Amino acid sequence: VKMGIDAGGTLIKAVISENGSIRVKSFSTSRMTDAVDWIKAHYDHAEICATGGKANQLLQCLGLGGKQIVEFDATCRGVEYLCNEKPLLHVPYIITNVGTGTSIHLIEEHGHRRLGGTGVGGGTIMGLSFLMTGIQEFEKIVQLAKDGNRSSIDLTVAHVYEGAVPPIPGDLTASNFGRVQSSEQRPEDLLASVIGMVGETVSTASVLAADPYHVSTIVYIGSSFIQNPILRKVVADYTKLRGAEPLFVENGEYSGAMGALLSL
Ligand code: ATP
Ligand code: MG
Repeated sequence: VKMGIDAGGTLIKAVISENGSIRVKSFSTSRMTDAVDWIKAHYDHAEICATGGKANQLLQCLGLGGKQIVEFDATCRGVEYLCNEKPLLHVPYIITNVGTGTSIHLIEEHGHRRLGGTGVGGGTIMGLSFLMTGIQEFEKIVQLAKDGNRSSIDLTVAHVYEGAVPPIPGDLTASNFGRVQSSEQRPEDLLASVIGMVGETVSTASVLAADPYHVSTIVYIGSSFIQNPILRKVVADYTKLRGAEPLFVENGEYSGAMGALLSL
């Protein structure tokens, strides 16, 4: 049995390969003992490779030995594997990992490098949503945001150029939260605007990072996209609006763990 683990700031993701079949499992990093107990109960004999910011801590708690690999190497390898049936994916391309924070990587024929990132990511969705609405569960935030309307919160280019022809697409946001006129806002609308801001920020940063390398494909991964059609739509629309091609990977949140598994 082989196990790849990606222990991130928010979630611990595990991919297990046993008798030719693959299973995945995730845990909250704030309850690391749950992950440790589960792994010890079911896979104490597994060969383990871990990655992510909390890999060291997790391996120590497990006490089963195991190796560690660099997170970015694992992520890129995992994406390549998970995309191997995507005929559209040719090097060079960008990988944008929207985890707790956001990291942007360039993948070229002979290697990869980190281009940068932003602290605006999935953790921002969680933190600002909690502050504004008191809601802490990711699933609830995403569910409510589906009924949200951003028009009383976000200022678009079309709003600014009211009655005139704007020099850039009117759908672009001119100012996130820039249209707020009242402190009374529906929670649904606030949540949609927070997710919108995060999506627009990560896609804008990705397209700008890609531009000097003449790369037009951006692969988005990370648990922030799980069951989150709102974020996917904002990111897809914004990436296209800014002239690049967005790609979402099925099970992309397991890229790091899969890359770790593949290095065993
Ligand atoms: P990093 O790589 O930045 O250290 P991470 O690997 O833990 O962090 P991900 O697991 O990719 O990050 O994504 C975490 C984000 O996914 C959260 O900030 C939240 O927006 C979202 N998310 C999805 N499902 C959950 C969940 N069950 N609990 C908490 N957050 C979730
Ligand atoms: Mg991560």
